[in-house]
Amino acid sequence: MHNLTIAEISKKLQEKEFSSKEITQHFLDRIKRLDGTYNSFITLTEQEALAQAEAADKRLATGDAPTMCGVPIAHKDIFCTQGVKTTCGSRMLENFIAPYDATIVSNYKTAGAVTLGKTNMDEFAMGSSNETSYFGSVKNPWDVECVPGGSSGGSAACVAAQLAPAASATDTGGSIRQPASLCGLTGLKPTYGRVSRWGMIAFASSLDQAGTLTKTAEDSAIMLNVMASYDAKDSTCVNEPIPDYTATLNDSIKGLTIGVPKEYFGEGLHPGTELAVKNAIETYEKLGAKIKEISLPHSSLSVPAYYVIAPAECSANLSRFDGVRYGHRCEDPKNLEDLYMRSRGEGFGPEVKRRILVGTYALSAGYYDAYYSKAQKVRRLIKQDFVDAFKDVDVILGPTSPSPAFKFGAKGDDPVAMYLEDIYTIATNLAGLPGMSIPCGLVEDKPVGLQLIGNFFAEGKLLNVAHQFQLATDFHTLRAKVDE
Ligand code: GLN
Repeated sequence: MHNLTIAEISKKLQEKEFSSKEITQHFLDRIKRLDGTYNSFITLTEQEALAQAEAADKRLATGDAPTMCGVPIAHKDIFCTQGVKTTCGSRMLENFIAPYDATIVSNYKTAGAVTLGKTNMDEFAMGSSNETSYFGSVKNPWDVECVPGGSSGGSAACVAAQLAPAASATDTGGSIRQPASLCGLTGLKPTYGRVSRWGMIAFASSLDQAGTLTKTAEDSAIMLNVMASYDAKDSTCVNEPIPDYTATLNDSIKGLTIGVPKEYFGEGLHPGTELAVKNAIETYEKLGAKIKEISLPHSSLSVPAYYVIAPAECSANLSRFDGVRYGHRCEDPKNLEDLYMRSRGEGFGPEVKRRILVGTYALSAGYYDAYYSKAQKVRRLIKQDFVDAFKDVDVILGPTSPSPAFKFGAKGDDPVAMYLEDIYTIATNLAGLPGMSIPCGLVEDKPVGLQLIGNFFAEGKLLNVAHQFQLATDFHTLRAKVDE
């Protein structure tokens, strides 16, 4: 049962081949038996899951249940889930029980999906390796000595080890696409504003976007159908019509123009990854797409601009964790200042502290113009590169990550090396565009991903282009060997 995609599970549930309760129990048993190795879950919501599955079975019995009814999934522990611990991978929220559901969580509940549990992640979604979680690192099912990528590493690892058919995730600078690449999955980060951020714990509000980690592009389309909604509770949510994303998956891509940015094939790209991406380009040519070399001239500025803007926004967002309202509070504070300092000092880990320090500095009077305001101007140029490129091309293609999964500790002492992991993904967030990563080969026996970037609100086109690749290749069907 665990080999199945969402589309397959949904069909079998509707045809009564098995019940939601049976498949939910199957995944719960697998998580309990196998997740000791991967550490992909922080919280298992067994009782809630079984109750949701029972309700889904009743709905399925009527013969009129929506596609995701009864399908078990996992949620990244950044999404508030009513009555359930929501930690964001931090000691700060170790005991925080969310009093409400994030909009995306309630959208899945309305659709009848079952929540298996909450997945491990880098602390406050800051990281590219899942080594910054207070709840321990997550292991990559393809090689447990390697990182699964971050920050949505738990969501990626649980799907790669087939402990869940799919999971929700978030992407501020690459946290869906990079773990998708490193774990052999399909990752989708929608356009900024397509999916509500309400109830999603904020890291960098102008960059954060919720999306999916699945086995196939078809499953991503099914999930986006549920996840995308206009939500007045998130003022940055855009009221654009929401198409049925599964309806255009099978459109022909003959005559489609795919842009390949020359800046994405420079120094630092692993030759194996480069070859896999070049082979994928040939596949697209065979499918009838036209390939066009393009230039995104400000690409090299995306990492520096991001590492001013994201820390600046995080320093403001994380000021709410002060030991007074909620979250960790130190023992026996001597006075208010001591309460603030020790609660934050104890509650946050080193990477979060580094970002708060950098962000506070960049926003301080006297430095604001030199750093934050300059970075925002660079961001505008990066966005303009894409706007210009999309005048001539339908989709942009390149690598997702510079190399396959690396060993634990390999970049731990060098934050800049870690930050460069997102060199191909960050610009998409700065521009607000949708992006995907789909498996395109194995390098050193580990998966690597192909990145596809679409125009604003062109998720349907992106999913179509990804699905057509998956019909022509079988990289997305390769699975990590799990010690059953
Ligand atoms: N790796 C990037 C960072 O550490 C992006 C993280 C993310 O997308 N949440 O900020």
